[in-house]
Amino acid sequence: AQAAVGVCPICKTGEISDRGKFYGCSNYRQGCHFSLPKQWSGKKLPISAIKQLIKTGETAQLKGFKSKKTGKAFSAKLKLVAGKLSFDFN
Ligand SMILES: [Zn+2]
Repeated sequence: AQAAVGVCPICKTGEISDRGKFYGCSNYRQGCHFSLPKQWSGKKLPISAIKQLIKTGETAQLKGFKSKKTGKAFSAKLKLVAGKLSFDFN
């Protein structure tokens, strides 16, 4: 396993680490199901963005997402809402 990416923002005690296809919390067996995908809307998420998300709950503007509807590339911030990844277009 790789080094931890950060402290889990949900349970506050687990460590988020690379689980292969996603990032997950070390307290999974204790019931914390927080996880982050490695890929989101056609974009591979850089580790720097994952770290930012875990630490601050949001990222800077990221380029290279692709709309499923139109196929067009777009930029957006990501944020965590109740532990779930979502876009922030504000
Ligand atoms: Zn956790």
